[in-house]
Amino acid sequence: MLERIIGLVAPHQCYICKREGALLCEWCAQDCCLPLSPRCYHCYALNPGSAVCNACRHRSPLKHVWARTDYEIWAKQLLHDFKFSRAQAAAETIGQLMSRGMPYLPRDTLVMSVPTATSRRRQRGYDHAALLGKQVARQLGLPYAPALHRLGQARQVGADKHTRETQLITAFRLTNASLVVGSKILLVDDIITTGASLESCARLLKASGADRVDAVVFAQKQ
Ligand SMILES: [Zn+2]
Ligand SMILES: [Zn+2]
Repeated sequence: MLERIIGLVAPHQCYICKREGALLCEWCAQDCCLPLSPRCYHCYALNPGSAVCNACRHRSPLKHVWARTDYEIWAKQLLHDFKFSRAQAAAETIGQLMSRGMPYLPRDTLVMSVPTATSRRRQRGYDHAALLGKQVARQLGLPYAPALHRLGQARQVGADKHTRETQLITAFRLTNASLVVGSKILLVDDIITTGASLESCARLLKASGADRVDAVVFAQKQ
């Protein structure tokens, strides 16, 4: 609400050139939010389609993961605004940047967000995951399907990789399993680090009958 009022009084400006519109305009984003070369998200081997490469295929249920940029200065700024101050405006800008450069996806591909922990959602008053998922769906002209839910409050901060992965195995649940059978799914998340959350969601979706699961993320943290 407050954000909407501020938005009416002072339209959003590009961080860098101050042009009105997006928080990071298309022009500045070319230099300040450098697109990553298409590659396997797991081992970083380059390949033109951002597919999970042959060597990594056995350990990942995902087929393609498109990552827009590195987790660096302006991407961090956008994600900070997305989480803490200007969620709607930042989601629009991040959604645009994520959607640009995506290949054509079949029109019946379902867009799903990787859900945020509910405690965090309550703290910030926004369902950030849904906000971003809807933006990406809108930009790509694909249906948005809120079918994934996060169970429990497994905290990832500080936990080692193994603990994170074992927590994540049971951390997600499907609310609409019939939707998933035979479907193509595009998972949406803001940041990818180990890829454990995306893989956990994708594993659940494949086990529930999904044909193919891809993902698009805004920033890759190395
Ligand atoms: Zn600009
Ligand atoms: Zn690989």
